[in-house]
Amino acid sequence: MPMRWLAEYAWLPAHAEPTPDVLIETDGGRITAVAPLTPGRPTAGVQVLDDAVRLPGLTLPGLANAHSHAFHRALRGRTHGGRGDFWTWRDVMYDVAGRLDPDSYLALARAAYAEMALAGVTCVGEFHYLHHGPDGTRYDDPNAMSAALVEAAAHAGIRLTLLDTCYLTASVAGDPLAGPQRRFGDGDALRWADRVGGFTPDNDHARVGAAIHSVRAVPAAQLATVAGWADRQGAPLHVHLSEQPAENDACRAVHGVTPTRLLADRGVLGRHTTAVHATHPTAADVALLGESRTGVCLCPTTERDLADGIGPARRMAEAGSPLSLGSDSHAVVDLFEEARAVELDERLRTRRRGHFRADELFTAATRAGHAALGWGDAGELTVGMRADLVTVRLDSARTAGVPPVGVFFAATAADVDHVVVDGRVVVRDGRHLTVDVPVELRDAIEAVTS
Ligand SMILES: [Zn+2]
Repeated sequence: MPMRWLAEYAWLPAHAEPTPDVLIETDGGRITAVAPLTPGRPTAGVQVLDDAVRLPGLTLPGLANAHSHAFHRALRGRTHGGRGDFWTWRDVMYDVAGRLDPDSYLALARAAYAEMALAGVTCVGEFHYLHHGPDGTRYDDPNAMSAALVEAAAHAGIRLTLLDTCYLTASVAGDPLAGPQRRFGDGDALRWADRVGGFTPDNDHARVGAAIHSVRAVPAAQLATVAGWADRQGAPLHVHLSEQPAENDACRAVHGVTPTRLLADRGVLGRHTTAVHATHPTAADVALLGESRTGVCLCPTTERDLADGIGPARRMAEAGSPLSLGSDSHAVVDLFEEARAVELDERLRTRRRGHFRADELFTAATRAGHAALGWGDAGELTVGMRADLVTVRLDSARTAGVPPVGVFFAATAADVDHVVVDGRVVVRDGRHLTVDVPVELRDAIEAVTS
């Protein structure tokens, strides 16, 4: 059904800042018109304005959360105190991973994705490796966990790219998967490709992509199998890259090169590939990523939570890597916080201000994230694009008095008031229309942690 929306402000593509009074028409899940109203001049369509839905505040295209492990939402607040590092955190994470089955994962992911919808996320990239039963036995449907995630996103009202993750070994040296990792493995990359190839969700809201968990988890000789599969499918390919210095050290010890160089040599890099984190690249790595137009997905709130470090975001962008954003471990689900952290972390690292313009952060959170997930037709308020509208209040305690261009430095996820995904209203007046998010989160997390 055709709809008209009148945005108090809307952030249009290639604009350094938002435009006031923009009429947006949608039909069949697509944007059919975008018309800024000329100030001080009566417009032809007075009756058009009468039936337009008013969107007070700033309307953005959909936000893309390009890196998610949905089940990590169960860990929020449970791993943040005390000492330790990435590796001790991982032990706690494995404990929850071991307790999930398709039903409990559906409930947890549905609630986690609905929290994302409340935060203005219209599309999520799920980096998924909990493929099999806890001891590694295949479910009757070997893609039952994937199917649960696709269903969860449908319930939550958002799009999903299922980045089906190849995870074969426990170390760069090729140690076999053991204990809680057994459920991640398919044996080898050909069997991984076989399983993934059998999963074709018949849904406009979901598509399948590929992921290499990391150079720790896929032997060098099998990297090209995964990359080749993604290439043949025209599917996005994601890979955790240099999140930890230990990964770089291990890769150098076994292969004599950095993880980035290894991926480059095996044909993994390219414009359909996204490196997640890239926190500890060398200068040569940055050049390899940029020259190949490999994207980089930064996950600043997770990287700070896990004491990973701060990646060279500006240098990677200048080298040619499009930047996208992910909430990864979901310690925080707030794309505004991720976006401003890209700039603010760079300030901490360099002790200088002003590395990224507001519209660059906006692009990372919207168009670039969607592109990294294979949705080239989303993330921009332009005719023909998917009808995603995310409206942020400009009258909350946090945003009152803030100029619209400053929203990425002021707003939080709690200021998202209205969310339309593919033309369907999912969030109205700050409430999810179909999921009681706090209650479902509480119950789903209790089920896998108590
Ligand atoms: Zn991750």
